[in-house]
Amino acid sequence: MGTLEGAVVVVTGAGRGIGRAIAEEVGRGGAKMIINYARSQGQAEEVVARLSLDGAQTAIAIKADVSDPIEAAHLIEQTINHFGRIDVLVNNAGINIDRTIKNLSIEDWDKVIHNDLNSYFYTIKAAQPYFLQQGSGSIINISSFVGQMGNFGQANYAAAKAGIIGFTKTAALEFARSHVTVNAICPGFIETDMYTAVPEKVKEGILKRIPLGRVGTPREVARAVLYLIVDGDYITGQTLNINGGIFM
Ligand code: NAD
Repeated sequence: MGTLEGAVVVVTGAGRGIGRAIAEEVGRGGAKMIINYARSQGQAEEVVARLSLDGAQTAIAIKADVSDPIEAAHLIEQTINHFGRIDVLVNNAGINIDRTIKNLSIEDWDKVIHNDLNSYFYTIKAAQPYFLQQGSGSIINISSFVGQMGNFGQANYAAAKAGIIGFTKTAALEFARSHVTVNAICPGFIETDMYTAVPEKVKEGILKRIPLGRVGTPREVARAVLYLIVDGDYITGQTLNINGGIFM
């Protein structure tokens, strides 16, 4: 894309954590930002206010639970109504419900698959006609190293995150002729509320498994997103690992 100036960028689940860092990093570069949130309006409005100070051309918050296909479609429609186009879609919204398979209920399985995998299809399905009509654009799906190597107690999350990788490659193949790139990013352990919720004892074990000896920051993931948007015109169907070496 070369420049962010004037680009319309949607980030799902952008009120906090990695989504927020992506919104701030990309917004600062001059893009028009859509800050999607499901529940936390206050946090999303904070990101909008921060971006307005930091030089984003425009930022607006849009409420939509992207695990609901109607709300996901509404998010894309609102983006088009507001800005007339969509240049970048970053699917980031995710949850986890961690239990061993023995204790994992059907509801826990369905909820995570719905929220973390189906939602990515819903937003892309809704945005596809606009991307293809424009003949340009970039879609970035936040997956996880857990989708590449599995993780004890995360069967539902691992399945969703692995599904995102296969879905990304297929979308990349289908959209390439319209000059729309589709890539996945697989973060390792990143310092956000999702990681803070991990028990201290488990965290000690995690640190020992990371070759670089520390967890990553949301900004380190955001910089990779920025790279794909600005300099990634010839990159598609790829999985970019930002993981301190935990999976090679
Ligand atoms: P987080 O819990 O701090 O933030 C996730 C955000 O997504 C929250 O604001 C939440 O409200 C929002 N969200 C969840 N479901 C939503 C929905 N249906 N509709 C709209 N918004 C929704 O988590 P995070 O650590 O910032 O994770 C962001 C992404 O990165 C997720 O996809 C996660 O799986 C992935 N990831 C995180 C880590 C990590 O260690 N933190 C590692 C690998 C991948």
